[in-house]
Amino acid sequence: MIERFQRYVRVGTQSSATSGASPSTPGQLVLGRILVDELREAGLSDAEMDEQGFVFATLPGPADSPVIGLLAHVDTSPDAPGEGVEPLVHRSYNGGVLALPRGGTVLDPAAMPVLASKAGHDVVTGSGDTLLGADDKAGVAEIMAAVAYLAARPELPRPTLRVGFTPDEEIGQGAFRFDLERFGARCAYTLDGSQPGELQDETFSARQVVLTVHGVDIHPGWATDKMVNALTVAGRIIAALPADRLTPDTTSGREGFIHVTDVAGTAPRAVIHAIVRDFDEALLEEHVALLRRTAEDVVATSPGARLEVDVRYQYSNMRRYLERFPEVVAAAERAIEAEGLPVVRTPIRGGTDGSILSERGLPTPNLFTGGHEYHSVREWASVQDMGAAAAVVVRLAGEWTSATSTAAG
Ligand SMILES: [Zn+2]
Repeated sequence: MIERFQRYVRVGTQSSATSGASPSTPGQLVLGRILVDELREAGLSDAEMDEQGFVFATLPGPADSPVIGLLAHVDTSPDAPGEGVEPLVHRSYNGGVLALPRGGTVLDPAAMPVLASKAGHDVVTGSGDTLLGADDKAGVAEIMAAVAYLAARPELPRPTLRVGFTPDEEIGQGAFRFDLERFGARCAYTLDGSQPGELQDETFSARQVVLTVHGVDIHPGWATDKMVNALTVAGRIIAALPADRLTPDTTSGREGFIHVTDVAGTAPRAVIHAIVRDFDEALLEEHVALLRRTAEDVVATSPGARLEVDVRYQYSNMRRYLERFPEVVAAAERAIEAEGLPVVRTPIRGGTDGSILSERGLPTPNLFTGGHEYHSVREWASVQDMGAAAAVVVRLAGEWTSATSTAAG
């Protein structure tokens, strides 16, 4: 598994929110072709990739067994450098500071309690100047290792497993393009979490809000009592938003937030992008209303200025879709416990492909991978925890034999 992982992270697969292509970057197709070859080598002879970069393959189970999906995304985040990744394996990590060879990057266990708890593990990092790509190539490697293991041991119990490696998760596009019918599973699991035992069936509900301020433009020399600078108004809107609550840095656990992500413009026109998040739909609507009211109040004090508010749906908390299929989470719980791990049920302060897939009709909770500090040059993973994730997949296959699914109705 670790050999596979080191091979995959060396392929640059950062997605791009601005390319407009599908997949958004060609590197994702390069990795997809490698995965198709390796799946076929493992015995999943129907493995193929479509022109958008979706890799699908089947490990057939006994006749009339249920079809269960295993998913991971091949793209990495555009938020940190991701080309030219050179993974380093720190064998039997001694629990001390890990100084990486490039970029002055230091992993300090004093500031990273989860890393501190992995003394004795083999820890994988990048070289300091790029992300590692454990998000989500750890998930890809774990699924590959688990299905290759099952393919080589036909005596082990399994349902029909459908493997899906998907593009463009980090830009929120892949799950919308995912062909549910062609995939043909009754439920699926993403491997895209972190700590051993994590089983996530809750994500944020998410909206993007775009505030466009139109000012009053006039030559600055003749502007007395006439000009309204849209940039100034935009600045006042941002300053009027709560700063000591409802921001990403002042919230945790189940609290939602309003986060201004981008401001751009000129004197006549300024655009503010914000994302709004909460686990509760009603609270989410309140946050959106607060943002709208704040902007309207500020613009009302600037005669001549005009405001447009565009609220864009992003994704919903997957819980309400998963609640209808309790057997999906229950099977994962049994698999994690069978591997001797505690089941950790933390809500995700973000979204996953499963948020969109669950809403579209494919119930898809999220499982751990053993990777941490995603989207940064400090990203790292524990080889032992990655092994545990692959083992949980093998056990999960055992939980979904036809007998189990019949009992679950
Ligand atoms: Zn991910």
